[in-house]
Formats: sequence, structure tokens, C-alpha cells
Amino acid sequence: MTSFLTRSSGTRRVAGALLALAVAAGASPAAADNATPAKALFGAAAVPSAGSPVPYGSYAKGCIEGAQALPVDGPNWQVMRLSRNRNWGHPELLSVIQRLSRDGVREGWPGLLVGDISQPRGGPMTSGHASHQIGLDTDIWLTPMPNRRLSASERDQMPFTSMLAPNKFLTIDDSKWTPAHARLIMKAASYPEVARIFVNPAIKKRLCETWTGNRNLLGKVRPIYGHDAHFHIRISCPAGASGCQEQAAPPSGDDCGKNLAWWFTKEPWAAPKKDPNAPPPKPPRAVTLADLPRACSAVLAAAPSGAVAASAYAPSPAAPAAAGALLPGQTIPVPRARPAGR
Ligand SMILES: [Zn+2]
Repeated sequence: MTSFLTRSSGTRRVAGALLALAVAAGASPAAADNATPAKALFGAAAVPSAGSPVPYGSYAKGCIEGAQALPVDGPNWQVMRLSRNRNWGHPELLSVIQRLSRDGVREGWPGLLVGDISQPRGGPMTSGHASHQIGLDTDIWLTPMPNRRLSASERDQMPFTSMLAPNKFLTIDDSKWTPAHARLIMKAASYPEVARIFVNPAIKKRLCETWTGNRNLLGKVRPIYGHDAHFHIRISCPAGASGCQEQAAPPSGDDCGKNLAWWFTKEPWAAPKKDPNAPPPKPPRAVTLADLPRACSAVLAAAPSGAVAASAYAPSPAAPAAAGALLPGQTIPVPRARPAGR
């Protein structure tokens, strides 16, 4: 792991060639490790691999070579939770974030508080997300940016603000939600690079009830549990990224009908039906490198880029996981995932 922490100017030039060799050989040192959970390996990488940015695999099972950092401060954004070191992504996503930060100002949104993007080399995370693995997903807080620079410890400790009414899972709190929230989310949906936006079902419902702009853009806005204090932007695979696995397009139209209504039924909360004749379920197994695209072993083993970890911005003690992650199930019940239409 120490190689991830060192810097070497000479390694950048040859890293691409090394990566290609490692993939061709299929036998990088990391690839031999099929017992360690991949999240531990990727979570330990403090800086990206050298090379040009390439996502491999799918949003929920993959990695990214040559990820770039979103600067922790911009004119209209601030990166939060710096100790998590998750401000890494594909440059196409980083430019979407920057564009939204500028456009947001015109929509009455003073600036973005940027949550998790990806780890330096992408991959599974030790906490918080199933996706965000290939540098094409980002979380944006539903809290407007304050008009001052937050300190590193404020960024680690500032609590999330849910848009839901207290003790309600699917009801908007009208003292928190504003038309500017709607305009910010729908501005993001209007970008052609943006494939999906995930929001709480109550937020999608509110948008369905009130949005008077292009209704077809609402189809990109996907309801999913959680996502009440932040929304999640996912962009499509960048052009030419042949190892990137695209998701099927969301349903056409505003999709404000039965797919949305499902979230307000009892079904998501019902226990799964048990088949008495089914074999006992296999105990869950941690994802290992062998489960990820082969290129990810090489990404993990590749020489580091010269980038600096976000946590170096201003050292502060790592926040406990619960402060940085909306971990479903900690204090609130979790419904089953909707199998299709996500
Ligand atoms: Zn997310």
C-alpha cells in the first residue's frame, strides 16, 4: 500500500504502459489477492493511479484509472467531508459539477456543497454507497452553500438537513424545501451528460406536482429511498470509454405514474416472501478483486499520480462514519430495493 502514498515524477509517463502490460499479463500483484474485500484495497489507496482518466465496469462494480480531484474550493462550491478523501472523479463529471455550481447561482442557489464522488481509484467503499465506483456519480447536498469558507472540521461535522418532515419517511418539510431546490435539481437533469438523478420519492413527487418546465426531464429523476438530504447525479459513460458499462435509459416521459406510486405503497416495506422449498440463502460474501473488471487489479497496482489527497487540505481527525454517511437502517427502517425502473 505504501506505493500509493509516494510520489514519483518519472512514474507518470510510463504508468500507462505499465497498466497495459499488467492487464495483458493478467497477473498484477493485486490481482492475486482474491480473499481481501475489494473495499479494503480501494479504501486504502490515498491517491489515484497515473494515466488518463478511464472508468472500468459499472457504477456499482468497477473502478477508475487516472481520476482527477474536484478542487476542494471553487467560486461556487465547497467539497465536504474532506477526511473521507472522496472528491475524485472523471473530468466530465467534474465539469458537470462546476457548470451546475455556476448555473445554480442564476437559479437562486448560492453554491454547491459537494458530497462524495469516488475514492481515488474508485472501487467499492467501506461505507455509505453501493455505486460511486467509477468516478461518474456525485452527491450534492440539499443545503445551500454558506457565504463563507467552511473550515475542514466544519466540513467534516456539519450535519445534513433532511427535506423530510420529522419522523416522516415520505413527506416533504415545507419549512425546508424551496422552489430553488427544484430548480437546482432540474437544471442538473437538463444537462445531456446527466443520465440519472436520484432523489427521495417525496422529492420526486413534489417535482411531479410542481415542475412547469420540460416535463420529460423528470424521467431522469429517479425515486429511491434515502436521498432526502442530498441528491445524486450520475452521468453517462464518457464517449470512447469502452470498458464503461452503460445503464439502460430511464423510462420515457415524466415517469410520475405507477413507478413513483409504488414507493408510497406498503410493498417496499414488506418482508420478502419465503419459499419453503428454496435452499438456505448463501451468506453474503464480500466483493473481491476477482469480482471486478480485470483492469481494476491493474488500476489498483498502478503507479500513483502526483495528486494530493483531499484530507491533506487541512488535517483534521476523521469524522465517525455515521457523521458522513446516510447509512440506511441505522435509525430508520429500510424498504426493499425496487427491482426494476431504478
Ligand atoms: Zn450517491
